[in-house]
Amino acid sequence: MYPAYPAPSDAAVRHHEAMLAFMREEVFPAEAAYESYRHQAGEGDHTAPPVIEDLKAKARERGLWNLFLPSESGLTQLEYAPIAELSGWSNELAPEAINCQAPDTGNMELLHLIGTEAQQAEWLAPLLAGEIRSAFAMTEPRVASSDATNVETRIVRDGDEYVINGRKWWISGAADPRCRVLIVMGKTDPDAETHRQQSMVIVPVDTPGVDVQRSLPVFGRQDQHGHCEVQLSDVRVPVTNVLGEEGGGFAAAQARLGPGRIHHVMRALGAGERALAMMVSRAQERRAFGGPLSDQSAVRERIAESRIELEQARALCHHAAFVVDSEGNKAARHLIAAAKVAVPRAVTSVVDRAIQLHGGAGVTDSTPLAMMYGWHRAMRIFDGPDEAHLTTLARAELGREPLFDLPPSIFDQSRTVEQ
Ligand SMILES: Cc1cc2nc3c(=O)[nH]c(=O)nc-3n(C[C@H](O)[C@H](O)[C@H](O)COP(=O)(O)OP(=O)(O)OC[C@H]3O[C@@H](n4cnc5c(N)ncnc54)[C@H](O)[C@@H]3O)c2cc1C
Repeated sequence: MYPAYPAPSDAAVRHHEAMLAFMREEVFPAEAAYESYRHQAGEGDHTAPPVIEDLKAKARERGLWNLFLPSESGLTQLEYAPIAELSGWSNELAPEAINCQAPDTGNMELLHLIGTEAQQAEWLAPLLAGEIRSAFAMTEPRVASSDATNVETRIVRDGDEYVINGRKWWISGAADPRCRVLIVMGKTDPDAETHRQQSMVIVPVDTPGVDVQRSLPVFGRQDQHGHCEVQLSDVRVPVTNVLGEEGGGFAAAQARLGPGRIHHVMRALGAGERALAMMVSRAQERRAFGGPLSDQSAVRERIAESRIELEQARALCHHAAFVVDSEGNKAARHLIAAAKVAVPRAVTSVVDRAIQLHGGAGVTDSTPLAMMYGWHRAMRIFDGPDEAHLTTLARAELGREPLFDLPPSIFDQSRTVEQ
């Protein structure tokens, strides 16, 4: 009832200060080179701008590496949250610079939690070293994938191998030439109990039958690492590639998405802060009707509302992170669900106001606002749409033991007194 958050460790404070300096000295100055490379390479190009590898080397030198994983960094989730938030100010560069980018972080967490020693040596080690990238393949175009039990991809055992057939889409990261491995979710036993039908299998991207066909744009923008439609046709991998146990895919997906979701919302807060900072500076510089826009009470109100929404969203995110640290992912799942709904909503509403204040410029790509809007609007769908989280939350509330045994309604009581 009265959460008393532990003070951050010296290491957490040091890392936070180092991240602030890294953002100022390296990341923001690198944004122009990143955008210019992508612009010149063209829409269909998914190679990483060289400035990314430069930033990775610099971040590593500063000790800013793999901070998302407590066993690597020594940081709690609550300590990581403000650092992840800083990275979200430059979401296309900073998370990857410190090797804390989705979807690799979720995949690394999975491999760390349930990978065998051999799987960890082959895939986790190069991912932690930032040498390769990875993707997570669950969603399918043919079925409502917000309900993961619908997944139709078949994983059929044939001797010492699995044979995989299915079609996936929205597979983030699969267009990046550095992506070497997919974690594929499919059905190993369609006759088992609903939540025991699925398994996760490690599939190297160069396995025959893996066909990365196209990358889907998010509101018209192609992300560098892409979100791909992938056809899997008679893909054969050894049975030792199963991640965790056969039939354990659903439980593993829940384990993967818990920390992944909260890391997304931590970074989203940084984007919200950037949009608010842009709103403030625009309001002070731009003049209309005899003075700066910041003189207008409607503008002031929007700035103030934005601050309130971001603080509320951050409080929820940090509380969820604290419960992950103190009681584990399972105990925190409802708070994570609440943060996964509240934070992208708050951030899209702040970005929307910032776009409005920038007038026509706000809807062009001459500011990052349009891209930020698209990404955070999409966040209300990926990692489970809002409605799925709201359903989970409502179920928990409906099952909650009431704190007080309340009397019948006041109206009924007053009638009893009158009689
Ligand atoms: C940018 C982006 C990146 C993504 N990256 C990945 C990735 O790397 N790997 C991967 O596997 N997937 C990825 N996805 C897919 C994403 O996780 C799915 O789109 C999401 O889970 C929803 O599934 P669906 O698209 O099949 O929608 P559906 O399941 O068809 O749902 C459609 C809509 O139905 C409504 N709905 C669903 N459930 C309920 C409910 N219980 N109550 C009321 N309404 C409901 C919601 O409005 C929902 O948006 C990504 C998606 C995007 C947009």
